[in-house]
Amino acid sequence: MQTSLVILIVGLAILAALVFDLWLDSRQIRWIRGHRAAVPAAFAGRIALDEHQKAVDYSIEKLQLARIDSVAGSALTALLLIGGLFAVFERTITDLAGTGYLAGLLLAGVLLLTYAVVELPFSIWRTFKIEQKFGFNRTTPGLFIADMAKGAAVGIVLGAPFILAIDFILRHVGAYWWLAGWGLYIGFNLVMLLIIPTFVMPLFNKLEPIDDASLRGKIETLLARCGFRSKGLFKMDASKRSGHGNAFFTGFGPSKRIVLFDTIIASLSAAELEAVLAHELGHFKLKHIAKRMLMMLVTSLIGFAVIGWLIAQPWFTAAFGVSSAMPLSGLILALLVLPAFTGWLSGFSNWRSRVHEFEADAYAADQTNGADLASALLKLHKDNAAPSTTDPIYSTFKHSHPPTAERIARLQTA
Ligand SMILES: [Zn+2]
Repeated sequence: MQTSLVILIVGLAILAALVFDLWLDSRQIRWIRGHRAAVPAAFAGRIALDEHQKAVDYSIEKLQLARIDSVAGSALTALLLIGGLFAVFERTITDLAGTGYLAGLLLAGVLLLTYAVVELPFSIWRTFKIEQKFGFNRTTPGLFIADMAKGAAVGIVLGAPFILAIDFILRHVGAYWWLAGWGLYIGFNLVMLLIIPTFVMPLFNKLEPIDDASLRGKIETLLARCGFRSKGLFKMDASKRSGHGNAFFTGFGPSKRIVLFDTIIASLSAAELEAVLAHELGHFKLKHIAKRMLMMLVTSLIGFAVIGWLIAQPWFTAAFGVSSAMPLSGLILALLVLPAFTGWLSGFSNWRSRVHEFEADAYAADQTNGADLASALLKLHKDNAAPSTTDPIYSTFKHSHPPTAERIARLQTA
């Protein structure tokens, strides 16, 4: 394929993905702004007008920042691929460090650092301007910097061996490297699922058993009823960073655990907490984690096969001025190009996730009390200043959870 045609297709894909993203965000902004004057019917009497309007203003500010962030990210990708910056990085590193393993590691590191530098001002603005203004931020600049340093250290310690191993496979396995690379990727993900909840999360947060005796008793009865080992339930000091509340399920095997933010333990009643916990247990009992992993297995295999084919095509690396002397550079190039073509698929994974959320809600209503879950969802909705109404198309593509109003309505009819 001709270089100019490859560049044209990739350029158009980056632009189309960006325009689509901006279009979705602007739909959502218009929608929630249009519903600012009155509390939507589904929440009438349950959310005060000033709370509703605060949620609208907060959501709009976040979306506006996200729009600029999208433009910056796409501009950087375009600069790397079409502007030739990636080729410049590769040439400079080859001149300095040759084409061996160190050079591959440097190239990956420089790219990750470049994206991190572009993302940093947005992250600072989000935390210290928007979250601060609406009263959610608890992060200090010191904690922010410490988090960043720790995140980088963990990324290097865990990421470097993975990059070296992939590079080894690229250099030694031959045409079917992508199959071996996929196996490595799956193995790496499983190891991460074991390591992150047990070793990485405690570096950032204090995770401890829930101490309140009466709550503990209620919870243990529920865990026993649902067949979940009670050692896996933790309270996390999320309040040191943010006032937002959440609960999540993570890990597998010995690292399997349910984590409740201390913020929701403070704001929900014991019965509401029990219902939220039952929802998280629902994800476990209904095998949502296993299903998600199976899906990841299939999609990543397809991804590796596509990358394997792509980087075997001489026109691909040549189009971006990249030499194939450093095997890893072709792979990194493919990873920069593909998201522009696959971003649309997030709509599908979000749809599946929303189905799972409804299923976990139904499970919780079965095991505990649907009314308690509904009131917990309402409190979480308010604590997070989520918009009380959303543009349906925006929601289809972007939301991993169904709108709170829909979840509450289903719980009430059940
Ligand atoms: Zn859930």
